[in-house]
Amino acid sequence: MTALAEMSADALRALHADLVREHEALKSRGLALDMTRGKPSPEQLDLAAGMLALPGNGDHFTEAGEDARNYGGNQGLPEVRALFAPVLGAPPQQIVAGNNSSLALMHDVLVYALLHGVPGGERPWVKEEAISLISPVPGYDRHFALSQSLGIKLIPVALTGEGPDMDEVERLAADPSVKGIWCVPQYANPSGETYSDAVVARLAQMWTGASDFRILWDNAYVLHHLTDARPQLRNVLDACAEAGHGDRPVVFASTSKVTLAGAGLAFLAASPANVGWYLGCAGKRSIGPDKLNQLRHVRFLRDTAGIGAHMEKHRALIAPKFAAVDEVLGRRLGPYGVARWSKPLGGYFIVLDGAAGTAARIVALAKAAGLALTPAGSTHPYGHDPDDRTLRIAPTYPSLAEVEQAAEVIALCTLLAACEKHLP
Ligand code: PLP
Repeated sequence: MTALAEMSADALRALHADLVREHEALKSRGLALDMTRGKPSPEQLDLAAGMLALPGNGDHFTEAGEDARNYGGNQGLPEVRALFAPVLGAPPQQIVAGNNSSLALMHDVLVYALLHGVPGGERPWVKEEAISLISPVPGYDRHFALSQSLGIKLIPVALTGEGPDMDEVERLAADPSVKGIWCVPQYANPSGETYSDAVVARLAQMWTGASDFRILWDNAYVLHHLTDARPQLRNVLDACAEAGHGDRPVVFASTSKVTLAGAGLAFLAASPANVGWYLGCAGKRSIGPDKLNQLRHVRFLRDTAGIGAHMEKHRALIAPKFAAVDEVLGRRLGPYGVARWSKPLGGYFIVLDGAAGTAARIVALAKAAGLALTPAGSTHPYGHDPDDRTLRIAPTYPSLAEVEQAAEVIALCTLLAACEKHLP
């Protein structure tokens, strides 16, 4: 097969006609597929079924002998903080274990920063003229929505395959109105990349115009390996502390995609000053987290080996779905040279770059064929992908058979949209 760019006009027209016919045939099949959100499948949630019976009748005392049913313990149970200390890369005393949803912790950190200011800052962020956060792209749409809802401007910076373009990050961070950067440093949503040691070192060491600059280190996929290759992410708390910027990073993670997406545990890890600041603010908001759920997680996951074994079960369920997408895209798109896609070593997404100017068209063609995709542009702040080419594919939720079907639809629509662009 010839690459699309090298095809004669006649060959292109013939291919286009074939693809249109195939698309019409698909439309008449009445498919109803959805690859929009990175949710765990019901089978993945079933892996934690045993947790629903825990901690069990009468089992509500913590290691310290406290009654987990009662108020208190804003920092979270010491035993759950100890269990997740290796995951977060921080000692238990520098960890807060909260309720479900790390996104909620990110929200609270930003709101507290706006209303009260953060350690090292001169005033509440809301008192500044205008503030911005650097947003590596492609990125996570809920980071964008959260920032925008709080009136924080977003400045996109390209990802390179091993983290953001650091020359650009350093240039932007020198501006005092730039208050921080969003990072999904391991198996990023959606590119799948892991930040290199050099990128982590530069983030830790760089000069920032704002004395209270924060790295929002959303390590949502730290445990979510898809292969035996385990890229080692440098510990950002250590790197920043060594560089004399210990208060710069705030690390987030959760068990949403480890145990139960709607009933997991969320964590925050940071310097002693940041943890003290956070607890001071959070103590006004709540008298303590759901410690029974924390106990339930300790009883179910037990130790580091228990967490690892549980994640292997997830991998067994979802790795074949990622492989299926890759196989279909490779078979159908590879020869035409019209698209690139990631082959992630972990995380929840595949990012597909179609021909420039075709992402919105691919989504529309897929919708017509019965497949819902995340809207084009959602990987970029303000929904603006300047090249209109990047799509996020979320293969975890549908069944393997559905993922295979959906990948066929995506490949067809990607090729058809590229063909339309090339037609004379
Ligand atoms: N951060 C990233 C990068 C995510 O992809 C997601 C979910 O898709 C979340 C955070 C949400 O985490 P939580 O369920 O802990 O709120």
